[in-house]
Amino acid sequence: MKQFLGTMWVLLITTACLCAMTPLAETGRDTIQKDLVKVDLQSRRIHSFDNGVHFSGNFAGARLGTPLKVNDSVFQVNITPENEPINKSPWYAFKLWSDRRKDVYVTLHYTYGTHRYHPKLSTDGKRWKDMEKSNVTTSNEDVTLRFTTGADTLWVAAQELIPSSEALYWADSLADKFSSLKKRVIGYSILDRPVVSFRIGDKRNANTLVVLSRQHPPEVTGYQAMQAFTERILAKNRLSSRFRKKFDVIVIPSINPDGVDLGHWRHNAGGVDLNRDWDKFLQPETRAVSGYLKALAANGDALQFCLDFHSTEEDVFYIVTEEKQSITQRWLAAIQRAIPDYKVNQSFHGIGSATSKNWIYKQFGAEAVTYEVGDGTDRQLLKRIGETAADELMKVLLEKTSGRKNKK
Ligand SMILES: [Zn+2]
Repeated sequence: MKQFLGTMWVLLITTACLCAMTPLAETGRDTIQKDLVKVDLQSRRIHSFDNGVHFSGNFAGARLGTPLKVNDSVFQVNITPENEPINKSPWYAFKLWSDRRKDVYVTLHYTYGTHRYHPKLSTDGKRWKDMEKSNVTTSNEDVTLRFTTGADTLWVAAQELIPSSEALYWADSLADKFSSLKKRVIGYSILDRPVVSFRIGDKRNANTLVVLSRQHPPEVTGYQAMQAFTERILAKNRLSSRFRKKFDVIVIPSINPDGVDLGHWRHNAGGVDLNRDWDKFLQPETRAVSGYLKALAANGDALQFCLDFHSTEEDVFYIVTEEKQSITQRWLAAIQRAIPDYKVNQSFHGIGSATSKNWIYKQFGAEAVTYEVGDGTDRQLLKRIGETAADELMKVLLEKTSGRKNKK
């Protein structure tokens, strides 16, 4: 992990594919300077104060700024975005401890936007729980958090902290269970982190389902639903086994690894919203994914459906068609029937914006859905919905393709 301090002027670059030899070759890394974007990077360091209180932003995903001591027990943390303008979704993550047991108040001061994420706490960076509401107070635009600190490190973050490396571990853990799972690097981020895809199936299937995730770093609930969805497709049951015989599944779990590890609110290291770059493809991450999908299609894969997982204030499915007999509408209706106590929200805003779902629909004629999970959706519930969504989509896709020629 590189150490950063202060401001970086990022060369906004494109990555041109060099792969004339084979359509599935790795993306090349030649670069073309396009523009200069000012991106504020977080200092990866520990801040220690004379009253024995310590903050750390020295880990992947941290966002802390430079803490200020207001008085013996009160500190202010300025939460700034990587660059502006930006979607107002302030991400924060830091560690906190003190030499002696002490009451500490930390004010989160947002320089742009307002509080979005209720704080999560952890003592090991892996298991998280919501901070007690009584310890969170809002005044004007600022939010003050009350802690009783001690020598043990307390992790504080806007959502569960899931660095980009977790997606690689997750893929490896699935590969241990599925010999047919093939992991590959399909490209590299601006800061040279791998963008990884894995494929489940034996490549003999022409029918392909595509799963995308984490274009926007803080959208952890979408990532969690994506995992539940994918693991259901890999489950050892009749429906999943039947589906895997007819369909290959391509999963690209972490499209913006730089943004995730830099603790960004939304953008990649070039200061760009990747899910608005699916027309110009100026970023290496979107070029890697789109180039890979185009190569698959050129190789004979028929993209049947795509889900791109995100998070927002509440659960909602952004769709590309309202046609009743479409895969999308049959699938959403099936989820609603399967979980009657859950309200399936859908929203249609046309197909004009430069998002992945719109590009996939226009490029391949495959229906695509942006699957948004609420920031505060109960983690067990989002898992249940993700699994049900997988079951119902497998049924609809199998029904649609039954009787069709399946082999390439
Ligand atoms: Zn998003």
